[in-house]
Amino acid sequence: MPKIRCVCEYVIGLGEIPSPNQYLMISDVSFEKYFDVEIKAEELYREMAIVVHCPNCSRLHVFYDGFDKEPVVYKIDS
Ligand SMILES: [Zn+2]
Repeated sequence: MPKIRCVCEYVIGLGEIPSPNQYLMISDVSFEKYFDVEIKAEELYREMAIVVHCPNCSRLHVFYDGFDKEPVVYKIDS
């Protein structure tokens, strides 16, 4: 997925690796199992939700189930 269009119409580029617009998020419960084991980056990556930040309006597009599904979009409230 090289780019997505935000609700504000800004086109967020994701082609750059690593992407300055992309973040990774993991639940505390999922992260717990990595405390006492050697962490393999690829395995940890698969557990994470991908979060895309719009540099124009700061909305967050959270892909909880990978890029194949529609993201949940969060807008700043205050
Ligand atoms: Zn935006």
